[in-house]
Amino acid sequence: RMPYLNKMDQFASELPIHKYKDQILQLICENPIVMITGEPGSGKTTQIPQYLLESSDLPRILKSSKLKIAITQPRRVAAIAMARRVSYERKCGLGKEVGYSIRFEDCTSSKTQIKYMTDGVLLREALQDNQLSRYSVVILDEAHERSLDTDILLGLLKQVVQLRKDFRLVVTSATLDIELFQNYLGNCPLIQIEGRQYEVEVLHSAVKSDLRVEFAVNAAIRIHLHEGLGDVLVFLTGSEECEKACRVCFDTLQKLVAKGKPVPSMMILPLYGAMPSEEQSKVFKPCPEDTRKVIFSTNIAETSLTINGIGFVIDCGYIKQKAYNPRTGLDALMVTPISKQQAKQRAGRAGRTQEGKCFRLYSESFFEEQMAESAVAEIKRVNLSSTILTLKALDIRDVINFGFIEPPDHEALLMAHKQLFLIGALDEDGSITELGRSLASLPLEPTYSRCLIASLIFKSYSEMLSLVAMLSTENIWQNVPKMDLENTENAKQAQLQFIDKSGDHVTYLKVFDSWRDNEYSEAWCYENFINARALRQARDIRGQLKTMIKNFRISGLPEEKLYNELMEKKALSSDSSIRLRLALCFGFYMNAARAVSYGQEGSYLSVSDGTMLHVDKQSSISILGKYPPWIIYTHLSGSTLSHGSLKVLSKIRSEWIEDLTPKLSQANLERLVG
Ligand code: ADP
Ligand code: MG
Repeated sequence: RMPYLNKMDQFASELPIHKYKDQILQLICENPIVMITGEPGSGKTTQIPQYLLESSDLPRILKSSKLKIAITQPRRVAAIAMARRVSYERKCGLGKEVGYSIRFEDCTSSKTQIKYMTDGVLLREALQDNQLSRYSVVILDEAHERSLDTDILLGLLKQVVQLRKDFRLVVTSATLDIELFQNYLGNCPLIQIEGRQYEVEVLHSAVKSDLRVEFAVNAAIRIHLHEGLGDVLVFLTGSEECEKACRVCFDTLQKLVAKGKPVPSMMILPLYGAMPSEEQSKVFKPCPEDTRKVIFSTNIAETSLTINGIGFVIDCGYIKQKAYNPRTGLDALMVTPISKQQAKQRAGRAGRTQEGKCFRLYSESFFEEQMAESAVAEIKRVNLSSTILTLKALDIRDVINFGFIEPPDHEALLMAHKQLFLIGALDEDGSITELGRSLASLPLEPTYSRCLIASLIFKSYSEMLSLVAMLSTENIWQNVPKMDLENTENAKQAQLQFIDKSGDHVTYLKVFDSWRDNEYSEAWCYENFINARALRQARDIRGQLKTMIKNFRISGLPEEKLYNELMEKKALSSDSSIRLRLALCFGFYMNAARAVSYGQEGSYLSVSDGTMLHVDKQSSISILGKYPPWIIYTHLSGSTLSHGSLKVLSKIRSEWIEDLTPKLSQANLERLVG
């Protein structure tokens, strides 16, 4: 394995970008906007900000003795990993000269000059300071990903460039859609980093999609036993699949060993967004000689993170991503086929340092016929409420003519305006309200922020904080493998202690409160089959939200009237669960649904448009088998586009809902948007 190990220890000077350093600096000095493209791994993310710091001319030109550089990433994992890497390369502690900032976590200081951050965080900073005056340079990285927030930032920063002579915008991307960006950015200068790409042999074999984990593991083991040097990168769809693949792979190897088969050692690692960052950094470490690294990863290894020494790629052909359900107005995570471009990118990961092979778990005709040429940009497929609210808060009144790189669909704009109007964030003219500004200042979906504000009135603020925090983390229940029958039963019993008849939201709250009553104990989580990491995260998030919302005092909210009425009638008990659910209604009353008549237990008709919804089997009310006449749901999910089974969470007694729903005609809506 020697030839590899040397290559794994690449130095910055060996990176393809190194030859371009002077050219990059010169162009950035001379032009307000520069675009830089290059294959993943060429050094764009880690090197460009360091070049900027080393420039002797730039501080003078940008009139700043101490440059501050922001580099955005569509994914939080990438923001953390890149900051770690660069602080390591520069031998400075993380959070000093180099830091990162992601939602609910800021690891920077007054010394920080290179700040990796999610695009969402930079967008939020723009709300406080719309010219981003604290930065001299912003690098919008991974622009080809076309994340919603990066798209919006592109539009905003184009305007900043007009206003600030002491500012530079650098846009970087993989070698995709270059023309689209260059045109959008006024034909700015472009540097294309040439990198060596080795031949990758692509092999197709169709497998059943519900068995992709098993097939992927088999393929990895075949490679391990029969192929030459090179680590293995496996693309799966989500964290559960990656974790499951690791377990199945480990078990299968054990069985081979037990049968007396000679099996060389293998290092099995998962890689996905929700992992703690120390765990993630393991995938970058070279493994011992004679050991092959096998990484089961989500899409994050497609372009944002480059792992050296990969010789083989296994591509399941699917991706899990947010998709918008136009009827319900909620985003759901869907597993859908990747695009041809993405399939090629994934295969390319095998050919960075030597010739490689890519095993596709789908047929050639699937590639040709089922995969679109390129991926659909996020702006075309997700709920836009939060984005529209941000734009309104930035005093951009005419959002239709904002100058998007690719405009969103009109229907989606309508829906977003409708949602924002319904929660009181916009008025009849489509202008942002005082309430809307408060909602925009919180790093949450506006609906959740709305619930928090309502909870102040209903005196269930503390509970709502816990609930929103719990809903902002990963799955709180411990994953137990299906094969493990005993623990599956134990986990079910443990879960039952928390299940509340008024639905999942109260159940979540009970879990959090019990954990708090047990001194936030790790052992308690373990005993009760609760995901300790998710709870710790929730506790952190709760703490942060608490400091953000302290000074909100908004008068004249509709819930005030309702609260007073209920108090007068003595209809509001001290039961905090009822107060919590009432407050939830103010964020989600448009997601109310009425039970379908007897005989169809667990089926509901949505009030807003009559969509049929089915309560998920895992939901508290399904577990108890007692379906209330009304529910309010905050989550929908569907496994594939073809059959989207809908998940419905939580319920509420909702005599009040209908009174709250303003009658909105199509004409009114059009006026709101226009
Ligand atoms: P690009 O942004 O062009 O995709 P990067 O700057 O992310 O490229 O990566 C440049 C090189 O640095 C790659 O060879 C990558 O493997 C390596 N690298 C990045 N992060 C780490 C890390 N944490 N550990 C080791 N190598 C890393
Ligand atoms: Mg990069």
